[in-house]
Amino acid sequence: MLQTNDAENYRKILSSESIWLCVSCQNCLTRCPMEIDIPQLMDFLRGKALEEKTVNAQSKNILSFHRAFLDSVKYTGRLYEIGLIAGYKMRTFNVLQDMDIAPKMFAKGKLPIIPEMVKDKRNIKRIFKKTNIE
Ligand code: SF4
Repeated sequence: MLQTNDAENYRKILSSESIWLCVSCQNCLTRCPMEIDIPQLMDFLRGKALEEKTVNAQSKNILSFHRAFLDSVKYTGRLYEIGLIAGYKMRTFNVLQDMDIAPKMFAKGKLPIIPEMVKDKRNIKRIFKKTNIE
């Protein structure tokens, strides 16, 4: 659809749910004989969809997760699981979703209360500023 260079197709792509389903696992890239970087393409299209405010309504929860994840990285330089969960639940109001597994994760030390911070947060701030990530 991108290769058709058709405005209507471009609009359809930017408002599709598919671009939000890619988890950047890189499977396609490692197997593609033409070395087409689909994950990077998906990143680009998601960025464009955000820029042009054409995010598919079905993808709202994925976007909420994406933003909660980036907030965690922005403020700690790492993934802070509890911050990610709280940020996601605040955005989606899915307060009870997956709550049954929280005690098990907590018991296994997968949900540390205190976030681990990178030493030099200035670099993280610089990256976010440079890439204009929101
Ligand atoms: S990186 Fe490729 S294989 Fe993995 S989810 Fe995205 S499109 Fe699919």
